[in-house]
Amino acid sequence: MRKIAIYGKGGIGKSTTTANVSAALARQGYRVMQIGCDPKADSTRTLMGGREIPTILDVQREKKNGVRLEDIVFTGFGGVLCAESGGPTPGVGCAGRGIIAAFETLEFLKAFEVYRPDIVFYDVLGDVVCGGFAMPLRKGYAEEIYIVTSGEKMSLFAARNIARAVEQFKGRGYARLKGLILNARGVPNEAALVKAAAEEMGTRVIIEIPRDSTVQLCEERNVTVVEGAPDSPLAGIYHRLAEIIAGGRTKG
Ligand code: ATP
Ligand code: MG
Repeated sequence: MRKIAIYGKGGIGKSTTTANVSAALARQGYRVMQIGCDPKADSTRTLMGGREIPTILDVQREKKNGVRLEDIVFTGFGGVLCAESGGPTPGVGCAGRGIIAAFETLEFLKAFEVYRPDIVFYDVLGDVVCGGFAMPLRKGYAEEIYIVTSGEKMSLFAARNIARAVEQFKGRGYARLKGLILNARGVPNEAALVKAAAEEMGTRVIIEIPRDSTVQLCEERNVTVVEGAPDSPLAGIYHRLAEIIAGGRTKG
């Protein structure tokens, strides 16, 4: 089992990219689990055909000690196992603690032993690298980190902060930064900018995903691009990214 966290600035395309890679890996025969670590709980929406699944925190509040795995893990497109940590009401409480509680519940219920996924993705907000948001970086959780970024200044700023946090944990044998995923925004000279930033962070750009309205067309229909436009060039790119991640390879 490989455990991979996908980090990146808010709104940069983490959930879109992760859901499409999960769908592509499922199509390629892997057993995949995707865990959304965001109070918005929208990471797995396109994998679930638009259905909003109950979050781990909500189910915990309701059922206390009576939570079962089938209350919090749902099967989406291609058999992808979907879970959402959930979080506190906006403005109240600590979202990071929500992630910790959700992880502990999955662990307590032995989710990985029961479902035996080949690959687990954690889809994590990267503006805050503290407490619960750093949780996937720590021992026993994700071993590999990919950062989604564009060439925009604030996106690269967040990427650098995440890379620094990973670096800090490295000495203790925790997660390793495996590469940057460039989700293009049409910034001038974008590929070169992100490549230079990657080198500075001691890593590489593993793929460039173009900005493509196929994403929105599929989102409208509550499906991933891999499911809704399987023959599109963009679906091909998500499949290639899935192969790179599954192979643990870095390009170049
Ligand atoms: P958050 O931090 O809020 O969870 P996120 O990083 O998960 O955000 P997404 O929700 O995946 O970001 O994407 C934000 C928006 O960008 C989505 O509405 C999606 O349609 C769009 N988007 C993402 N990637 C692409 C792309 N390659 N081409 C076109 N649109 C994209
Ligand atoms: Mg998201």
